[in-house]
Amino acid sequence: MTTTAPHTHTPSSPDAPQEGTHRRFAGTVSPSSSTLTPLDGTEIRLTDGFWAEKQALNADVVLRHCEDWMERIGWTANFDRAAAGRRDPGTPWEHAGIEFVDSEVYKLLEGMAWELGRSHDEGLQARYDALVERVAAAQDDDGYLHTSFGRPWQRPRWSDLEWGHELYSMGHLLQAVVAAERTASSTRLVDVGTRLAEHLWAEFGPGGRLAVCGHPEIEVALAELGRALDEPRWVELARLFVDRRGHGLLGQIEYGAEYFQDDRPVRDADVLRGHAVRALYLAAGALDVAVETRDDELADAVRRQWEATIAARTYVTGGMGSHHQDEAFGADHELPPDRAYSETCAGIASTMLSWRLLLADGDARYADLIERTLLNTVLASPRDDGRAFFYTNTLHQRTEGTEPDEDELNARALASLRAPWFEVSCCPTNVARTLASVEQYFATRTADGVQLHQYGSYDVDTVLDDGTPLALSVASGYPLDGRVGVTWRGDVGREVELTLRVPSWADGAAVAVVLPDGEVRQAQGSTVVVRRRFSAGDVVVLELPTTAEWVHPDPRIDAVRGQVTVQRGPLVLALESVDLPSGSVNDVLVDTTVDPITTATGARVQLSRSSGASSSWPYGRVASTAHALGSVELVPYASWGNRGPSTMRVWLPVDDLRA
Ligand SMILES: [Zn+2]
Repeated sequence: MTTTAPHTHTPSSPDAPQEGTHRRFAGTVSPSSSTLTPLDGTEIRLTDGFWAEKQALNADVVLRHCEDWMERIGWTANFDRAAAGRRDPGTPWEHAGIEFVDSEVYKLLEGMAWELGRSHDEGLQARYDALVERVAAAQDDDGYLHTSFGRPWQRPRWSDLEWGHELYSMGHLLQAVVAAERTASSTRLVDVGTRLAEHLWAEFGPGGRLAVCGHPEIEVALAELGRALDEPRWVELARLFVDRRGHGLLGQIEYGAEYFQDDRPVRDADVLRGHAVRALYLAAGALDVAVETRDDELADAVRRQWEATIAARTYVTGGMGSHHQDEAFGADHELPPDRAYSETCAGIASTMLSWRLLLADGDARYADLIERTLLNTVLASPRDDGRAFFYTNTLHQRTEGTEPDEDELNARALASLRAPWFEVSCCPTNVARTLASVEQYFATRTADGVQLHQYGSYDVDTVLDDGTPLALSVASGYPLDGRVGVTWRGDVGREVELTLRVPSWADGAAVAVVLPDGEVRQAQGSTVVVRRRFSAGDVVVLELPTTAEWVHPDPRIDAVRGQVTVQRGPLVLALESVDLPSGSVNDVLVDTTVDPITTATGARVQLSRSSGASSSWPYGRVASTAHALGSVELVPYASWGNRGPSTMRVWLPVDDLRA
């Protein structure tokens, strides 16, 4: 996207104020060196429309929903019991939930902090402070903090690194600490995190215990904590964890060492494999370490793994993971739609990884995958009302789901409609922290200007390194409407570049850019760069065609060979049985000789239904026949399941049965 030399800045010290009141807080990721520099919550703000509504739903409903559930089922109270137990260590108390539920409280704290950085809401601050205090009170004198290990009646510390999620949970605490530090939300939590990091350094640092956690997460957390607190030891500890992996330090498990990426060193691996969330968190942490330590070999390994994973192990929705049993990537092209695991957390972790690669390299393809994944996997998780979530994101629901009990915990993958909470509830809190900081994925800056990666309605107010202030407003009805207007709100003192991503789904289509003087240009390639001395009121318009188009799969993806799906701009569409006159989606065929008709929110296609197959034995010498169903509406995949029980499919078998 840009050919400028990598930009270097010191993340821990806010850049010198340019206009008296301007102060930068870093965002979720703040590399010490990068091609693109991230913006933070003070430099970019969603204004209205699609994304602002999602973020408002998160602030108003999702955060509270997570908080209330964890209060109600005692996960938060684990910290109270642990704190009380510090005064009376010999008396057992009952731990609520599985062993890594601490991490859900931490992800909630992270989400609250990003929200506080933007809203400064006093009520939210009070709830946040109270929760921080309860967590802080549970910390042991030596800095260790976990509610499931280490007490006389519990398993000893570090005794189950394969499955215990001890460092994993602590990693999420450290990410909450990063958010607290960068939004100035809680010095108390930063103190807790610093004490914990010191403890981990003593335990696992140079000369310490040679070990890694079965679930990566501590790596990406420590690397960012090191950046946030300007403490190289935390980056070094992240490096040690990354480099130790793949040497068989973890014990044998039924799924094999690949499950937790201990089968080979990160720098030697060619593709992401094993448990998808673990693989993606590890890759994100490895890239952070590579960037901070200038380890090009390690960075190249992560790039190579991303390429191979995108090429053959990613669903059209951006979802990752096609094995239910071990929540893992399948083999290349093993992407069955009805067995898609596509965990919401894997979509989030993939976005975290792509964002780090985008900052490092500036390649628009990373932003492309972020767009696809956010709009078609991450946003599929929360129900329209923000009170229930998908854990897995199937691409073909064969049986009508049942409405989950709104008052009960659900098994993670068995719920057929979105469920309010899960026994393993990693996804809702992950959605919460992601939506609370989602605008950070939208734009970056360089010494030469700003780059817009994601579209919607938002304001950017930033200052370039030479002190040049930039103020612009982006307005778009994205993702349904592909017109993106960029209005400059102030005169710019010199020539700067406005870089607009042209999504890969618009490849081959006519993409127009209208310049302030009215000149219309056709866009070529993956970005459009407009360079000039912008004045207040200047408008640049990008016109992306969001007409519905057929999408064909690589024939090597056998599970969907002979099928097509429809994409409308960035949105992958799906057929839901509530839109059929009757019956399920399972025997539906699509007529690809009639192009899809773009509608206000999706597209209409001509469908038929196969018939004539024997009901007693599903194989035979005579092919089925088909009868027409007429024109049927497809809806954005992410919105499916909001109208009650339904069958659903993304891939539609092409009708070759008509005589
Ligand atoms: Zn999850």
